[in-house]
Amino acid sequence: MEQLTQIAQHFKDSPVQMIRAGVWKPRTKPGSFEGLGEEALKYLQEVKRISGKAVCTEVANSDQVELALKYGIDCLWIGARSSVNPFTVQEIADAVQGTKIPIMIKNPINPDVELWTGAIQRIQKAGIEQIAAIHRGFSSFDSSSIYRNKPIWAIPIELKRRFEHIPIYCDISHICGKRSLLQSMAQRAMDLNFDGLMIESHPNPDEALSDAKQQITPDELISLLSQLQIREMVQDNDTLEQIDYMRQIMDSVDAEIVELLSRRNELGLQLGDLKSKNNMSIYQPKRWNEIVESRTDWGKKASLDKKFVFDIFQNIHEHSIKLQIEQMQAAENLKQKK
Ligand code: PEP
Ligand code: MN
Repeated sequence: MEQLTQIAQHFKDSPVQMIRAGVWKPRTKPGSFEGLGEEALKYLQEVKRISGKAVCTEVANSDQVELALKYGIDCLWIGARSSVNPFTVQEIADAVQGTKIPIMIKNPINPDVELWTGAIQRIQKAGIEQIAAIHRGFSSFDSSSIYRNKPIWAIPIELKRRFEHIPIYCDISHICGKRSLLQSMAQRAMDLNFDGLMIESHPNPDEALSDAKQQITPDELISLLSQLQIREMVQDNDTLEQIDYMRQIMDSVDAEIVELLSRRNELGLQLGDLKSKNNMSIYQPKRWNEIVESRTDWGKKASLDKKFVFDIFQNIHEHSIKLQIEQMQAAENLKQKK
C-alpha cells in the first residue's frame, strides 16, 4: 500500500491520465508474486482518492470482473495471456455485458492480428463502447532481439486500419523489457501515431516483485514524457499540397511495382510449364542462391538495405514456387483424368 500511495502522490499533478496496477498477476511460473487479490482493490480505491486519476486493473475471469466492478475500478484490461484465448475473452465479455466499463485489450502473445481483432469484436458485441487496444509486442523464442517482446509494428498498424476509431496505446515496458530502451521506444510509438503509452513504474524499481528491469521511478516516467516530441498534424496548405503531390507519384510507382510483379508471375508460370514438361524439380537451390546474390548486390549498388531486398525476393521467390507447384499439380490431375 505504501508503494501505491507514493505512486499516487507522485502522479497527482502529472500528465499521467490513468494509474494501472496488477491486482491479479498472470505469472509465467508458479511461486512468483501473483498480486494481492481483493485486498489490493481497496488500495486502488485509495490511489484513486489521493491522485484524482482513474484506476485500472487486469482481469482474466468473471469473478475478477465482478470484484473489480464492485470496488469501482474505472477501467479493466485484458492481458496478452487472456486475449490469446477466445473462451477467456468471451467469459469476460459476458461478465461485462450490461455495464459501461471501459476495457483495454492487449494483443495476444503470438503475432496474430485475427485473434486480436476477434477479442475486440467479442467485447464490442457485449455492448462496451469505450474500448482501447494495447500493443505490448509478441513473445518469441528468438533471443537475438534486443527487445523482450518483438514490436512487429505491421500488426498494430493493421489493427488500427481495421478499427479506425479505437485508440491504441503502446505498452513500451513489456516491449522493451529494460529501462534503457524506453525513451526511444516511446518516441517511436509517438512517431507511429499511437494514441498513448502504458509505462510501468515503481518507487524502487530494482526491488519490484515483477518485471524489475523494465520499471522506472515516477520521476523518471514524468521526465520521459516531458522529453517526448509530439508531432503535430500539418495544417498549412502548401505542405498538404506537396504531400498530396508526392503521394500521387508514389501511387504511380506502386502501380508499376504491381504490374512488374504480375509480369514476373507470368514468367514464373511459363518457366513452371517448361520444368513440368521436362520433369525437372521446381525448386532449384542453385538458382535461389544466384537470385539472393545478384539481387542483394544490385540492392547494395542502389543503396538498399540488404535484409530489405532479401526479404522481398524471398517472398517473391516463395510465391513463384507456390504458383509453379499448383500449376504442376493441376497438370498432373488433368493427365490422370484422361
Ligand atoms: C502486465 O501488464 O503487467 C502484464 C502481465 O502484461 P502482458 O499481459 O502484456 O504480458
Ligand atoms: Mn508487468
